Amino acid sequence: MTGLAAPATGAAPTAAGPVWLVGTGPGDPGLLTVRAAQLLGSAVPPRDIVLYDNLVHADILALLPPGVERRYVGKRRSDHALPQDTLSALMVSLARSGRRVLRLKGGDPFIFGRGGEELEALVEAGVPWHIVPGITAGTGVATVAGIPLTHRRLAQSCTFVTGHLQDGSMDLDWPALVRPRQTVVVYMGLVGLPTLCAQLIAHGRDPATPAAIVQQGTTPGQRLLSATLARLPEMVSRAGLHGPTLIVVGEVVALGEKLRGGVPD
Ligand code: SAH
Repeated sequence: MTGLAAPATGAAPTAAGPVWLVGTGPGDPGLLTVRAAQLLGSAVPPRDIVLYDNLVHADILALLPPGVERRYVGKRRSDHALPQDTLSALMVSLARSGRRVLRLKGGDPFIFGRGGEELEALVEAGVPWHIVPGITAGTGVATVAGIPLTHRRLAQSCTFVTGHLQDGSMDLDWPALVRPRQTVVVYMGLVGLPTLCAQLIAHGRDPATPAAIVQQGTTPGQRLLSATLARLPEMVSRAGLHGPTLIVVGEVVALGEKLRGGVPD
């Protein structure tokens, strides 16, 4: 009996795999779960292979013992390194060839991470699997930036959405997102930021609502800009931010400024 709860586990053990789907948190290696850190540190060459994407920080890959094979399988906007089907097929074939696969995913595998799709493919192929949750960017990045996503007085709920543009527009439930006393956290929203802010205002959110964007949260490259919903896009285009960035909209952002002791530069 160890101190760890039994991991969520799929098919009965066979010679294949298993595949570990591992959330690696928002970037700072200190925010890995104990289980993720143990898995990384105990990977064994040549049996184990690591598949990672662009959100997995280099400092986390540095925890792997020397000689462990690692392959980049990530996607960037409009630059699909590996289509999802190919990636799932790769995991299955590696597992069937007897490799143990550590599939590292930024944040939590099931939050905007396509972890569900990858797991479906493993289940369909009968490959044994385990999953390790991670701290998702929404909570990890906001908290490290000093923004409480909920607050008894200011926000009784918090909604996570994707700001990814589909054909130049954002298909979101705007009337729901402009309800008061709610924090909205937007993943993948940098390119669509002007659309996001304009739509929230058009649907009734006060243009003076505090809003912040955090680039590379929890890492040494962290940068935070905060403004109002009306002013944030212009400020961001002047500052030249790049991904990954997380956007937070709501009164709690102003509280974050107070908690941090002023507006950071
Ligand atoms: N599964 C991941 C999210 C994948 S979608 C998770 O649970 O966090 C990718 C988006 O996550 C990025 O576009 C960005 O919006 C957000 N993100 C991930 N890491 C981040 C970081 N360190 N700082 C800011 N945003 C981050």
